[in-house]
Amino acid sequence: VKESGKNDCLLYSDSWSNSSFERLTLQHEMYRAIQRNEFILHYQPQYDLVTGSMVGVEALVRWKHPVKGMIPPGSFIPLAEESGMIVQIGDWVLEEACRQNKAWQDAGLPHIPVSVNLSIRQFVQNDLASKVASVLHKTGLEPKYLDLEITESMTMDVSHVSRCLLDLTEMGVGISVDDFGTGYSSFHYLKNFPIDRLKIDRSFVRDIQQDPSDAEIVAAIIAMAHNLNIQVIAEGVETEEQMEFLRKHNCDEMQGYFWSPPVTSENIEQMLAAS
Ligand code: C2E
Ligand code: CA
Ligand code: CA
Ligand code: CA
Repeated sequence: VKESGKNDCLLYSDSWSNSSFERLTLQHEMYRAIQRNEFILHYQPQYDLVTGSMVGVEALVRWKHPVKGMIPPGSFIPLAEESGMIVQIGDWVLEEACRQNKAWQDAGLPHIPVSVNLSIRQFVQNDLASKVASVLHKTGLEPKYLDLEITESMTMDVSHVSRCLLDLTEMGVGISVDDFGTGYSSFHYLKNFPIDRLKIDRSFVRDIQQDPSDAEIVAAIIAMAHNLNIQVIAEGVETEEQMEFLRKHNCDEMQGYFWSPPVTSENIEQMLAAS
């Protein structure tokens, strides 16, 4: 186990994931972590590229482990997906994000949507849309202030997912495709699913300046999305040059360290109050 400076997170070397004992331990601890309230959400702001104002936040889960400290999602989400526990964790994330967003609104802060990451596993339960409806009802958050981020998976049942997404869209919940361009069937998504927004993966954004083909790809994704009436947000924006490029090519929104890393809910509250 080694310490990382960023976000006070503990990062694990690959060795832990190879040890089945450690995996079992972590899996067991994860189960208790839900009951013990050890998960917390950080939020990363999303900005309008024209006005520069904060127009949304993405909820990102962290595990406050009593002994190991703050564990980043990359160190436990894959295991949670594998074991199926991502469904319980995902339920908690969804409700907490909606509850928090409603609390900001009730405090008189600007109303913005919160984006929640969904695992494909959460579609396997056949009641996803009704679960979302009941969380919105319970927390009092209006559907238009919730956005769900989905990623590609080769193992999914397209007609089932598409029906779920149509139900959610009819409710007024926003749908974004996360990590756009990294999968095998990104275009298939746009054709078959009711998508409001796509998020250009940061691997394309990273090399905009160095790699002319990445620049072409990003420009083409933006133009194509706009022709399909789909909004575009770029993720992983770290430099002013990247931001300028995106602005020049009419990208709608951006998210990245250049403006803000994921921060606590208290920080978001301050940012909203100042905006
Ligand atoms: P993601 O959905 O693609 O989230 C964006 C990740 O990129 C976040 O990492 C964020 O901290 C990081 N990031 C943001 N801006 C920059 C930047 O400018 N440069 C770089 N290098 N990185 C940036 P994080 O919080 O560690 O999350 C990692 C992944 O874990 C997420 O990737 C998502 O796939 C997954 N995840 C996080 N929370 C949840 C959750 O509640 N449910 C599910 N199913 N997955 C989650
Ligand atoms: Ca995401
Ligand atoms: Ca992403
Ligand atoms: Ca990702």
